[in-house]
Amino acid sequence: MRLATWLCLAAGQLAAQTHYDLLLKGGHVIDPKNGIDVVRDVGIRDGRIAAVQENLPSSSATRTVDAAGLYVTPGLVDIHVHVYAGTGVPHVYYGDNSVYPDDHSFKACTTTMVDAGSSGAHDFPDFKQRIIDRAKTRVLAFLNIASNGMDSGPVENDLGSMDADLAAATVKQHRDVLVGIKSAHYRGPEWTPVDRAVQAGRIADVPVMIDFGLFRPERPHSELVLKHLRPGDIYTHTYLDRVPMLDDQGKVRPYLFEAQKRGIIFDVGHGGGSFVWRHAVPATQQGFYPNSISTDLHVGSMNSGMKDMVNVMSKFLNLKMSLKDVIAASTWNPAREVRREELGHLSAGAVSDIAVLRLETGKFGFMDVEGRAMAGTQRLGCEMTILGGKVMYDLNARASIAWDAK
Ligand SMILES: [Zn+2]
Repeated sequence: MRLATWLCLAAGQLAAQTHYDLLLKGGHVIDPKNGIDVVRDVGIRDGRIAAVQENLPSSSATRTVDAAGLYVTPGLVDIHVHVYAGTGVPHVYYGDNSVYPDDHSFKACTTTMVDAGSSGAHDFPDFKQRIIDRAKTRVLAFLNIASNGMDSGPVENDLGSMDADLAAATVKQHRDVLVGIKSAHYRGPEWTPVDRAVQAGRIADVPVMIDFGLFRPERPHSELVLKHLRPGDIYTHTYLDRVPMLDDQGKVRPYLFEAQKRGIIFDVGHGGGSFVWRHAVPATQQGFYPNSISTDLHVGSMNSGMKDMVNVMSKFLNLKMSLKDVIAASTWNPAREVRREELGHLSAGAVSDIAVLRLETGKFGFMDVEGRAMAGTQRLGCEMTILGGKVMYDLNARASIAWDAK
């Protein structure tokens, strides 16, 4: 047999053998890591991405989903949520301020959530067995530098409980789920919480995420992002009213661009009190965009201006961030920020966490944390969420067989 003929036969056999458990057909794939922004079919096999190509035949798949007119992207990665629910403790984030992850993740196309410091070294084991080990959502976490976790009050402000060695040792012991160190809501004039968080981050070789609490003159925000944090560390609540973002002429202060340039990550962390249009509009008009989009999901944000991941992403679309950049800031960028580079993309062989999004055009309104509205013309909605190849949410029953089919 001539070699060319043999090669053709071999290729034919390979194609015939190719089988997909699930095939998403005709969707517009946006996969920022791989520079894909075009209509493609996505084949899934054994929970992994098997192929992203043109014209994969439906005959090769057990189930085919018509994704025409929709966007197919990596599953959304939300790096600021509070999901340490169920302890019964009122008015704290290691309790009733938190929500259960599966109640909110999949219907917003989120496949990975990163809890932002609701637990510290002392209560992390309880958080892990109560929530992380039992949730269907992929839940990772930043560990609070305050050992007793996040109450947004005296517990979290106790300098005596901020032990860098203990926090670092806990991260090292649970590297499978702990991705960094958090400091939040500090009210005092000292740099201690930030510096101990960075120290722990250095020992464990992980990034830190900072909520700067009260912005006190003794510890200027510019010094935080220019001196105390390392490149790769994350400042969350970028468009918070307390950030001294604009000068008297309404210009974005240069230190913010400088900090972003030196590698500080600016994360949205919308929440119930941390996103105002009077900062977000002028800042984005002047080119100061976030590196990552996150919700700061908790009971105080879930039904107010924040709502969910796709609503926060829609706000940035209407702030003239391109769809491709919005997707990057919600998938590959946050995955890299928490150093989970196996997530946030659709490379062949990657775990198949996928979001299928609908982009609607019309007249919409978006609320900030002060109750102010901004009108918009675009809104993203979540159609389908796939986690590890399994359909977790399917708004229009696209993956189902018709009820009267034989
Ligand atoms: Zn938070």
